[in-house]
Amino acid sequence: MKAEEASRDPERVEETAPVEEPKPRRPRVRRIDIFRAWCKGCGICVAFCPRGVLAIDEDGYPFVKDLEACTGCGWCEIRCPDFAITVESRRRRSKAGESNEKE
Ligand code: SF4
Ligand code: SF4
Repeated sequence: MKAEEASRDPERVEETAPVEEPKPRRPRVRRIDIFRAWCKGCGICVAFCPRGVLAIDEDGYPFVKDLEACTGCGWCEIRCPDFAITVESRRRRSKAGESNEKE
């Protein structure tokens, strides 16, 4: 039987592999630390974050609103004039050899 005829055969049951659900991606960023003692509440980190991860609280200080949206780009850390915010990503830790956790 030719392949074309086989595809039209009503008796034929096609076996297909089960479709696997995609695994949820782990966030790339483990944590973002904001040192209140050094922070002056200028809002630069919030303004430069391209993903809306950070927001300003009622006291005028930044807080992490949505860690899962963070890409670990580091803009907030680079732009903070007071070194008051740090971003700890999985990639950065594993490159430095500080973590045994697999990517
Ligand atoms: S690392 Fe990038 S995405 Fe994450 S909070 Fe900072 S600026 Fe936003
Ligand atoms: S840029 Fe630095 S000093 Fe300014 S609000 Fe953000 S963490 Fe605070």
